[in-house]
Amino acid sequence: MMQPKVDTSAAILIIGAGPAGLSTAYYLKQHGFKNVTVMERLGRVGGLCCSATEDYQSFDLGAVIVPPSYHEVRKIARRIGMTLTPIWGATAISPAGSADGGRYHDLFTYLAGGASPSARIRFLWRCLRYIRHWLRHRRVIDRPGWEGVAAYPALCVSFLEWLRRRNLQDLARLFEIPLTAFGYGDLEAIAAPYALRYISPMTLVSGLLSSGPLARFIPACLLLQRFTFGFQRFWERLSWELNVRRNCTVKRIERSGEGVTITYAHPSQLINRQVIHDNVTARYDYLILACPLLPEEFATFMDLSPEEARLAARLRFNPYAVATFEIAGAPLQERLVFVVPPPPVGEPLIITQQYPDNELMAFYAYLPTREPTPEDEARLKEQIARYARALGGRIRYEDDWHSYDVWHYFRHVGPADFQDGYYDAWERIQGDNRTYYVGGLYDFDFVEGIVQYAKDLVARNFAGAPHRGGGKGDP
Ligand SMILES: Cc1cc2nc3c(=O)[nH]c(=O)nc-3n(C[C@H](O)[C@H](O)[C@H](O)COP(=O)(O)OP(=O)(O)OC[C@H]3O[C@@H](n4cnc5c(N)ncnc54)[C@H](O)[C@@H]3O)c2cc1C
Repeated sequence: MMQPKVDTSAAILIIGAGPAGLSTAYYLKQHGFKNVTVMERLGRVGGLCCSATEDYQSFDLGAVIVPPSYHEVRKIARRIGMTLTPIWGATAISPAGSADGGRYHDLFTYLAGGASPSARIRFLWRCLRYIRHWLRHRRVIDRPGWEGVAAYPALCVSFLEWLRRRNLQDLARLFEIPLTAFGYGDLEAIAAPYALRYISPMTLVSGLLSSGPLARFIPACLLLQRFTFGFQRFWERLSWELNVRRNCTVKRIERSGEGVTITYAHPSQLINRQVIHDNVTARYDYLILACPLLPEEFATFMDLSPEEARLAARLRFNPYAVATFEIAGAPLQERLVFVVPPPPVGEPLIITQQYPDNELMAFYAYLPTREPTPEDEARLKEQIARYARALGGRIRYEDDWHSYDVWHYFRHVGPADFQDGYYDAWERIQGDNRTYYVGGLYDFDFVEGIVQYAKDLVARNFAGAPHRGGGKGDP
């Protein structure tokens, strides 16, 4: 039995009820902490895991995919009884409007750069070489967080450069799908450690198996999966056993060596009447920030220390939009369609139709501006209409956006920051001013990495584990 480093009756406040905040609260509870509160500004939990239900079917409008390598997420899912469903089939399509606009390609032929057996064998051989190189770096990339990564300059380069140095640049088409299309940016910009953490051998193999024609005959445990009722519902279910306050507006946070004072507003319902409790003050022993540290947002309610401000100023993200429409007359060949080669910013890169019998389709695109403008929205809608025409269909309700979300996605830094010891600097200040940080920036902006980082942070800083847990094994 570990001796807790922090008294289990300590009052702990977590800001943000996305994957980072809820998993941190969950692991604290697992370690016996009894006084943990999560405050969320929205009326729902899950952050970028956002799901909607229509016609009794659930749709994911943010995070979707749960590969077999999501050990921690799957462990929690089993505990709380949330089921997963396999994702079968993916294909590629040329940009609408090109000479062969709307033409589907065989995904493997596109990825391999040809249909001949020799092209396919070369492609598979390169995948095996990627796996071999990945295994060599395993000690550094397959553990939570990035402490110490600066000591490996061969890793502190862009992912494309990392591939080039190993003569694997011909795999760029393959990696553009999970990286560029899924919102993580160009291979030339994304730092190699992030890409390597995300695309483990298991994820690579399950992605290829799920996209192939035989996917329906492969055991589900080897395929990419999604939560049957949506990713958000997984977090909602977990939040039932945690103290989560929704609709909280943080007004002021003051920190010192002794504790943390928060001033906030929150609504409550008193028999048919909503009451806003304004300027409520509460005191906590520790603060865990589980929301993106966007300096302009934080400046409105909290003074950052000079080091926090310096590190937060280097944070970047990609404005990434997801819009859904009903498209009549053009059912997709597969549930997941990648637009290849990746089109310019502002045009959809992925189209999904989650259910073959439901015309609702989601379109994913980068936006050109940090904060979305009406012009971005109009341009995206125009492009979606063009894509629908190229597929032989049309938007069913011209003015009915089923949803339109723009996410501040992929909180990250560049390869030079990795080399500069950016992450060592964050790890040095974990706990200063009684403040800890969890979330996409500190590992990689995908759910399993965030959950493993939260588990490790709780084990080391609260439960008193002597070494990094590596995300393996139960607390
Ligand atoms: C379109 C899309 C597709 C994705 N697909 C996948 C996928 O298939 N698989 C996968 O693993 N990941 C995927 N992701 C990534 C995944 O969703 C994120 O990595 C994850 O949600 C980040 O978790 P987080 O808790 O760090 O941040 P968030 O999810 O952003 O949660 C932060 C929470 O903090 C709250 N908050 C912010 N400021 C405050 C404040 N001042 N006060 C109170 N609360 C506040 C927010 O409302 C939010 O609920 C996808 C993301 C997007 C956008």
